Parts: sequence; C-alpha cells; structure tokens
Amino acid sequence: MPLGPVDPEILRRLQKALSRHLPFTIRVLPPKPLPPQTYHVVRDQYHSTGLLEYLLDNDDEDSYRILGVTAADLYIPIFTFVFGEAQLEGKAAVISLFRPSGAGAARVPRQTLIQRLTKLGLHELGHTFGLGHCRQPGCIMGFSENLAKLDLKDPELCSYCRVLLEDYLRNHPPT
Ligand SMILES: [Zn+2]
Ligand SMILES: [Zn+2]
Repeated sequence: MPLGPVDPEILRRLQKALSRHLPFTIRVLPPKPLPPQTYHVVRDQYHSTGLLEYLLDNDDEDSYRILGVTAADLYIPIFTFVFGEAQLEGKAAVISLFRPSGAGAARVPRQTLIQRLTKLGLHELGHTFGLGHCRQPGCIMGFSENLAKLDLKDPELCSYCRVLLEDYLRNHPPT
C-alpha cells in the first residue's frame, strides 16, 4: 500500500520483484495519505511504528500481510532514521524510498532503487513471518545499518532462514 505519493512504475516493479521471491500473490493497493499524527515536525520524518498501526487500521481488504511503501523518511526514537520497520510475527511492515533513492540528493539509477526496495521489502516481510536478524553472511535477514551493506546482499534468505520461513508458512498458510 503506497502511503503518500509513490511513482506507480516503482510500485509495479517492486510488486514484480517481490512476487519472484515470495510464494503468494502480491497486489498494489490504492494509495492512502500519510497520517499527519505520525509526522515529527522537528525531525521532518514519519514515525514508522505509527505507520504500522495506520496500515492495520486501513487494510480494507484484510490482507494476509500488508507492506506500506512511502517516499517519506522514517524514524523510530532511538535511531536517526530507519529504512523500514515490521511487526515481528505480525501483519504490517513498512519501507521507505527516501534513503535508498539518495535521500533527496543524488538520485540513484532506477534499477538500483528497485533492488534496494526489494531487499528491504523481503527483510521487513521476513520479520512478519517471525524471522529475526540473522548472522549468516549474505542473508537478507541480516541487519543493514547502511546502504553499502544492503547493496552487498542478494535478495535471498540463507538456508536456515528459508527453512524457518517454510515452517511458518506451513503453520500459517496464506488465506
Ligand atoms: Zn530487521
Ligand atoms: Zn538467515
């Protein structure tokens, strides 16, 4: 679900990329405005935890999982910024285009942006399936504190996380 204005082509390409990695149907939902109560005027950022609640409140289709995608910069109070956030074993996750697209400064190639968003989307959705942060080299569930680390990863789970995901999906099948 786009939160605020997001280029529809980016959403289409992200939908296609995520569909290649996840065993269920991914649809682009109608956009919703960013909720003003999650905006922090001094930080000029949106509180990602508030956006997760907003996604749940606005999921008219009662989706299996809901991934918010926004161009706004996100934060949680203990960090300067976050690339995204998710509910561990919950339903909602959110990712931001702001840092991956060059933080309002130098624009990165569209392909790079899509790759970054795909990795962030898989990582945050992984949390909703109960996956924690993983220390296996290259695993997409590893924590990336910056874009350089994110760029080194493939959009893939390690064999350990893959088994955990398969178990989760067997016990909680998509409806
Ligand atoms: Zn994480
Ligand atoms: Zn892993």
